[in-house]
Amino acid sequence: WKNAPPAMPDLVAIARTHGQRLFAVYEDERVTYDAFYRATAAFAAYLVDRGVKKGDRVALALRNLPEWAVIYCAAACVGAIAVPLNAWWTGVELDYGLADSGARLLVCDGERHERIAPHLPALPALEQVIVCRGAKGPQSLEGIIGRSGEWALLPDLDLPPADLSPDDDMSIFYTSGTTGNPKGALGTHRNALTNPLSSAYSAARSILRRGEAIPAPVPKVNLLVIPLFHVTACNAGLMAALASGSTLVMMRKWDALKALELIEREKVTTTGGVPTIAWQILEHPERHRFDLSSLESIAYGGAPSAPELVRQIAGELKAVPGNGWGMTETSATFTHHAAEDYLNRPDSCGPPVAVADLKIMSLDGSHELPTGEVGELWAKGPQVVKGYWNNPQATAASFIDGWVKTGDLARVDAEGFCYIVDRAKDIIIRGGENIYSIEVENVLYDYPGVTDAALIGLPHRTLGEVPAAVIHLAPGARAAPEELLAFLRTRLAPFKVPVRIVFQTRTLPRNANGKIMKKDLQALFTETAA
Ligand code: ATP
Ligand code: MG
Repeated sequence: WKNAPPAMPDLVAIARTHGQRLFAVYEDERVTYDAFYRATAAFAAYLVDRGVKKGDRVALALRNLPEWAVIYCAAACVGAIAVPLNAWWTGVELDYGLADSGARLLVCDGERHERIAPHLPALPALEQVIVCRGAKGPQSLEGIIGRSGEWALLPDLDLPPADLSPDDDMSIFYTSGTTGNPKGALGTHRNALTNPLSSAYSAARSILRRGEAIPAPVPKVNLLVIPLFHVTACNAGLMAALASGSTLVMMRKWDALKALELIEREKVTTTGGVPTIAWQILEHPERHRFDLSSLESIAYGGAPSAPELVRQIAGELKAVPGNGWGMTETSATFTHHAAEDYLNRPDSCGPPVAVADLKIMSLDGSHELPTGEVGELWAKGPQVVKGYWNNPQATAASFIDGWVKTGDLARVDAEGFCYIVDRAKDIIIRGGENIYSIEVENVLYDYPGVTDAALIGLPHRTLGEVPAAVIHLAPGARAAPEELLAFLRTRLAPFKVPVRIVFQTRTLPRNANGKIMKKDLQALFTETAA
């Protein structure tokens, strides 16, 4: 690998040098980098033996387990395209992902295996299913990598050689499906490697801007709370860990109390992922029972967040707050924002990371808009994927001359900080006036007790659309609709004030990436508004 152009085998070879450092903690299992490397080399050798060639799709459907990293990296290192499927998907949805990607091989955990088993006869391209942490046997992942018990006892092997170039296809990550059917974003080795490389550079730039000294890098302990099948957890979490030797503390499933226990037990230095997770840590009634002093930073993205969150992270948890905007198509983080910069501009998601470019374009895509004006955010850089798998139409609509049209509406201020104001699909146009839902949601969040808020458009006979809000109050909080409306009228122009507000006792429906499923909220308002 030494003289080859950068590709995944490089990163995995770097990971090997972290040796006895802890790569992953999962319940009572502790996996060193050495063990991670051995398992990856063993599975890669198996894939080569099975005749898996460059460009073949190897799908994986597992919860966040150390094996997830092994399968993903092994597939990439032999030149296959790894296809992480959403572990939350039902059997029918997993079937869609397998059929769409044309996977030859699937590795799944026991639970996913039960879900997909009835669909297997209808998937002729799928030659083999390997089960991990299910029934043991030679066809189980444990049998293949030679792990009959302890991770430490794996045989010592080298990765098989592979002829790879940075622009070879490496992964298909499915988008969250917030605005329609999930689309498979086809990423390359270069896309995957850009995130770990650019994040250190971008963090250093932001420290320099504040006039502070750059601290010596210390390996982090990252409580990984978002699923690895989302590109942010994989690229900003796993790939970054392999480069830097950080430890990933994995959770069987998200549970705020368990997260607090793990932060104390494993001396976690960073966590976050999505804004909801940060709120649940902050607001947990038993938070004060735990020693959270190891936490240095909490960074999130993936969904709009209330400006109040950043103040509470700094004030209450004494941790450096961070935010990043990104999408599956940008292989994770594309803008980055932290510390004072973020506290001073809590409604921004920061400037683009060091290697990236953005521009704000008119909605018809014909011209670039001047500083401060709201338009569609277009993104370009070495982390932007080639296009969508198996979907030339969607690719042609969104990928133009190296730029991806993000579908997000944003503005950029004179200093280069970017502000996401809405998704183009969510904008509410009331009698010709644009209402950006994030602006109204941020005001709703400022009302005491509101912990979840979504603004959606309702059809209206004469105005086209009018805004309506769904909110969730913290347990014990009270809000009278009239008082809330009076508050909103002091902060928002009359046309932006919701015509109806629904209070929900349950938190709002979110997908695996923490985004409110606005599509599902329409049903709360059965009739039209006029
Ligand atoms: P689909 O494309 O299938 O409809 P999706 O866009 O939700 O789903 P992802 O690629 O997971 O799928 O999410 C990217 C989107 O998440 C962005 O386009 C943006 O709308 C939102 N987003 C990401 N980061 C931020 C952030 N920091 N602030 C606000 N919104 C964000
Ligand atoms: Mg999208």
